[in-house]
Order: sequence, then C-alpha cells, then structure tokens
Amino acid sequence: MKKAPVARPGPPADPWRSHPARILRIRPEVPGVQTYDLEFRDARVGDAYRFAAGQFNMLYLPGIGEAAISIASDSATPAVLAHTVRAVGNVTGALARLDVGDEVLLRGPYGRPWPVDELAGRHVVVVGGGLGLASQRTAICGFARHRDRYASVTILHGAKTPAGLFFQREYDAWRAAGIDVRPTVDEADASWSGHVGLVTDLFAGLAIDPTRAAVLCCGPDPMMTAVARAAGVIGIEEGNVFVSLERNMACAVRHCGLCQFGPQFVCQDGPVFPYDSIAGLLTVPHL
Ligand SMILES: Cc1cc2nc3c(=O)[nH]c(=O)nc-3n(C[C@H](O)[C@H](O)[C@H](O)COP(=O)(O)OP(=O)(O)OC[C@H]3O[C@@H](n4cnc5c(N)ncnc54)[C@H](O)[C@@H]3O)c2cc1C
Repeated sequence: MKKAPVARPGPPADPWRSHPARILRIRPEVPGVQTYDLEFRDARVGDAYRFAAGQFNMLYLPGIGEAAISIASDSATPAVLAHTVRAVGNVTGALARLDVGDEVLLRGPYGRPWPVDELAGRHVVVVGGGLGLASQRTAICGFARHRDRYASVTILHGAKTPAGLFFQREYDAWRAAGIDVRPTVDEADASWSGHVGLVTDLFAGLAIDPTRAAVLCCGPDPMMTAVARAAGVIGIEEGNVFVSLERNMACAVRHCGLCQFGPQFVCQDGPVFPYDSIAGLLTVPHL
C-alpha cells in the first residue's frame, strides 16, 4: 500500500489555544469509563472545527492539567465531539466528577489519522483491545456509512471480560451496515456464549485476500506486536498494518519531547504509524 503522508485537518491555526466546550451528555460505558459528548460554547469555533478518524484533542481542566484524548465521534457531525475516557489520573479523574452542563477547555485536533481514504477496495480489519476501540470509532462510523467502498470490513474486538467490551450497544447497527463484528474475551462468564481467547486467534478464521487487506490496530503495545505477527501469518504484510500508539505527552505540538519515540514524535508523526516503520522501536523497553 502507498505510504504517502495521510491528509489531515490541522493542526489548528493557533495550536496552543483552548476553547470552552460544554458537556452535553455523559454515557457510562464500562465501570470507570464514560463517553462525554462536547459542544463548543462558541458556535463559530464549532463550525470551523474539522477532524479525521484517529486524531485526538487535548482536554484541559484549569488548575488540574491537560490530557490527550482520542476523538470517538462521527466526523460527519463534527459539531458534537465524543471522547471516551477511562478515569486513571488527575485530569481524567477530575473529568469523571463533572456533570452535564459543566465546561472543559479543548484544543485540537492533532495527529496523523488512520489512512481510511487509502483503504478503498480493500478488506479492512479493525482490531481493538480495551479502550483502543475509542480511537477507531470514528473510522468505523465512516466504514458503516460508506460500506460499499470496501471489499469487506471486520472488527475484531477484544476485552478481558464481557463487561469490558466497549460500544457493545453499537454492534447491531454496525452489523446492519454490513460490518462483520467478532468480539472475544479472555475470561467468559455465565452471560457469554461467544469466542474466548485472544484477538490474534481470530485471524485464522478471516476469509479475505491478504494481498488486498489492511489492519487498523489499537491496544496495548504487546497486543499490537502480536496482531502484526498474526496478520503476517495469514499473509498481510507489515506495511499494511497500521497501529495507534499511546504515549505521555504534554504539548501535542512537538515541543515538550515527552512523546518522542526514537526519531519520531507520537503527537505529530503519529499516533497512527505503519507498523513496519516502528516495529523495532516497539520492542525497546520503556521507549
Ligand atoms: C494520542 C492519545 C490518545 C489517547 N486517547 C485516550 C482516550 O481516548 N481515552 C483515555 O481514557 N485515554 C486516552 N489517552 C491516554 C491519556 O492521555 C492518559 O491516560 C493521560 O495520562 C490521562 O491523564 P490524567 O491526568 O488523568 O492521568 P495522569 O495523572 O497523567 O496519570 C497517568 C497514569 O499515571 C498513573 N499515576 C498517576 N499518578 C500517579 C502516582 N502518584 N503514582 C503512580 N502512578 C500514578 C495513573 O494511574 C495513570 O496510569 C490517550 C493518549 C494519547 C497519547
């Protein structure tokens, strides 16, 4: 597949400027994780805002800090931005204490998106582990809307337990749009009659032409390495596997250096990378 830089909106004209955004709705996903629907207070900011699948925003709570959070909503309706957030620390913990009507400050969008425009005519395999699917939800909305542009679209969705599978309420709509959704869990419970095992197990059952396939993967680093290997076993080349990396970052504009990953910066050269461009770095401890 061609690896030309993917067209992306932004970065914004003033990448340091945050804009107030109101919480319109809060949806509980799984314990400790909520989706926040946000709308810019200034409608002109909202009208000018555009983003692509896989990009992220910096959410800022004054006096507390900023965190990078993937945009998880449909890019066809950019006026309302969804962010699915796990409360793990200062910013995300404080966000979890906010309510509908409260405001956060938001700047973005940042980062290299998923190469969705290059995938036309191909078999697309979306592999999401844990919260990873949040960074892929925008792409999935696009695949569902334009399903006829792709040879096939399959989602391999993995979680530790059935209760940990995000966005299960959307499976029916995705399937109705012609997307093959295959969830799997590490540990089943009485409610579960589906597959038990790793997402990598599911590659063997894919009836696709690997020479016309691409994989979009987001999850923990070891999972992404394992997925690239599993894709290779069925004949999908590393250059057709794309991964989204999560690294601590403070600025999102290539200044702070926190997210430096070898010679690249995750905030701007990523978070989406062709796997073959970073495979060696992914196995370096603590990088
Ligand atoms: C491109 C990108 C996209 C992302 N998208 C999402 C997303 O969609 N949703 C999402 O939830 N996250 C996302 N993240 C991750 C998110 O940015 C980080 O988890 C961020 O650090 C959260 O900020 P925080 O202030 O809440 O956590 P921090 O306070 O920075 O804490 C971060 C981590 O440090 C640990 N920690 C905090 N304080 C201590 C302490 N005193 N001692 C030991 N450990 C501590 C926490 O347990 C946590 O694991 C994304 C990151 C990137 C780079």
